[in-house]
Amino acid sequence: MTETSHIRNFSIIAHIDHGKSTLADRLLEATGTIEKRRMREQVLDQMALERERGITIKMAPVRMRWRAQAHAEIRNPNIEIRNKFEIQNSNTKNTGDECEYILNLIDTPGHIDFSYEVSRALRAVEGAVLLVDATQGVQAQTLTTLAMARELGLAIIPVVNKIDSPLARIGEAKHELGRISGIAEMEILETSGKTGVGVDELLAAIVARVPPPASAEENKIQDTKYKIQNTSFRALIFDFEYSEHQGVILYVRVFDGVVRAGDALKLSAAGRVFKPNEVGIFTPELTRSDTLSAGEIGYIVTGIKEPGVALVGDTVLSAERPLAALSGYKPPRPVVWASFYPESQDDFPALSRALARLKLSDSSISYEEEYSHSLGRGFRCGLLGMLHLEIVSERLRREAHLSLITTMPSVVYSITDRKGVTRSIHTPSQFPDDGTTAEVREPWVRSRIILPQEYLGAVLRLLHTHEAEVGETETFGEGRISLALELPLRELMRGFFDSLKSVTSGYASLSYESGGERPADVVRLDIAVAEEVVPALSRVVGRARVEEDAEEVVERLHAILPRQLFVTKIQAKALGRIISSRTLPALRKDVTAKLYGGDVTRKMKLLEKQKKGKKKMLSRGRVEIPHDVFLKMLRPKA
Ligand code: GDP
Ligand code: MG
Repeated sequence: MTETSHIRNFSIIAHIDHGKSTLADRLLEATGTIEKRRMREQVLDQMALERERGITIKMAPVRMRWRAQAHAEIRNPNIEIRNKFEIQNSNTKNTGDECEYILNLIDTPGHIDFSYEVSRALRAVEGAVLLVDATQGVQAQTLTTLAMARELGLAIIPVVNKIDSPLARIGEAKHELGRISGIAEMEILETSGKTGVGVDELLAAIVARVPPPASAEENKIQDTKYKIQNTSFRALIFDFEYSEHQGVILYVRVFDGVVRAGDALKLSAAGRVFKPNEVGIFTPELTRSDTLSAGEIGYIVTGIKEPGVALVGDTVLSAERPLAALSGYKPPRPVVWASFYPESQDDFPALSRALARLKLSDSSISYEEEYSHSLGRGFRCGLLGMLHLEIVSERLRREAHLSLITTMPSVVYSITDRKGVTRSIHTPSQFPDDGTTAEVREPWVRSRIILPQEYLGAVLRLLHTHEAEVGETETFGEGRISLALELPLRELMRGFFDSLKSVTSGYASLSYESGGERPADVVRLDIAVAEEVVPALSRVVGRARVEEDAEEVVERLHAILPRQLFVTKIQAKALGRIISSRTLPALRKDVTAKLYGGDVTRKMKLLEKQKKGKKKMLSRGRVEIPHDVFLKMLRPKA
């Protein structure tokens, strides 16, 4: 058991790509947590998808050990802290020259879709290392994550990162960071996750500036009967994962007491009692330990196999002497809805299992069963953004080996009919025909964009095409502007972020939060292939954009839809008429040779597909649209 005074729990927060995961690598190295030879880049990004895309999707906790002394870094940033120091912290019980600290780090994702992960991680820690990329300066998510950390009363350690880069503007970045955090510039650290410069100083600052976990004393049970036992166990579930063999594994921050394997525990919300098979810590692999005690971050293997029992934000209590539950998390609000249908209805039970299992490693997903006339049984899922949708759909496909149809994502529309009855529509294909409703309302967001001054004109033009209302503008740092605005969530989801990046050469950043409902002037746009509407491709678009969107969708589908054995019409319909149309020529036998040259496997696949397609066509009389066509249609235009 570690004295709480020797524990520091912290998180690294920043805008995406400012170097959180890379800096975490250096911390793991400097503390000897991971041997150099086992080290790889962004080692905490363990999911295959994270590694492929180079982004963090899930938070990752890890425990490090570090011998250090408080305050050394402020007095003299140049001394070799690791070996030379004296005890100054009177809280520590160590009598020798050094004392060892347990540092629990939770690395977090930076993409806005995953800010729920950040908010959960922050509830488990006392401090936040706020990184700003010296080549980028303060960005929109820097402000959002700082606000989150502030709200929770965390100690904030401001750090300017990537100082090795020739493009680094350290002074400017410090100035901006100082301004937004209210922390004196001289207290802002400088690091490079690439070279490791400043990493020892950062570790020393974490020990010095992050308070130890709140003492369990405060939570001691009043009842004298329990005094002898000291405190009862209480921990916050900030995440979990699922293992086929061990069931649900809770990721917890212990606030009170101690837990061992075999103790009787209770999940507060579900009221479920269980005895853990194992408890342990993150090294970052799950590593068994005898106990987990107040102040620590670790895991509890529950053995519980059914989904829905363990909830993120719930409290784990001692079953015998339960304390009150800790306050949990606000459940995340889904931003977009999309439906998943198995390509073959036989796979429906498999899809159902896969979603339940996915929810056990991503608690932000919400879903319910849905039936579509043409697609059969499927699930409508609430997701936190377009990237989240893409990731979930990819994980389902990979982890469950399922062929899926993913419908066009939509925000939720509130529709009032002529009789005054209001209902919610999440699925574009169910959006009523134009002229049959009394009112349609849609969600809006409040957003902030930070951009270099010279791009203001381009951004304002872009905002106009996305129906945004521009609010206050503020100059920000050197030659940069912070723009407040509101826009329909529908427009934000319509590739706004990618367009923003492209018109500003990647220099603008964006954050947003939900901002109420407003009346919407939107219509349903249907896509028909071979004269048959494909419900998964229906979408709801602004009335003013109908023509443009219709043409774009038809054009795109024409480019990616595999040719059929017959001439195929691709049409976009809205407002009761055909808005756009193109014809896909028939596939001829020799076409494959011309198209694919020497690539025999692809050719075989194509022929195989053609065969299958033919069979299906004959049996069902319609065009089969492969899964990747749906996925490609989801992606914002290149
Ligand atoms: P995260 O999104 O905040 O976790 O950022 P990553 O750690 O994944 O890094 C984003 C990108 O910045 C990667 O391409 C890294 O190689 C690069 N990078 C990270 N730290 C540094 C640094 O200190 N210096 C330089 N020059 N590049 C860095
Ligand atoms: Mg990362």
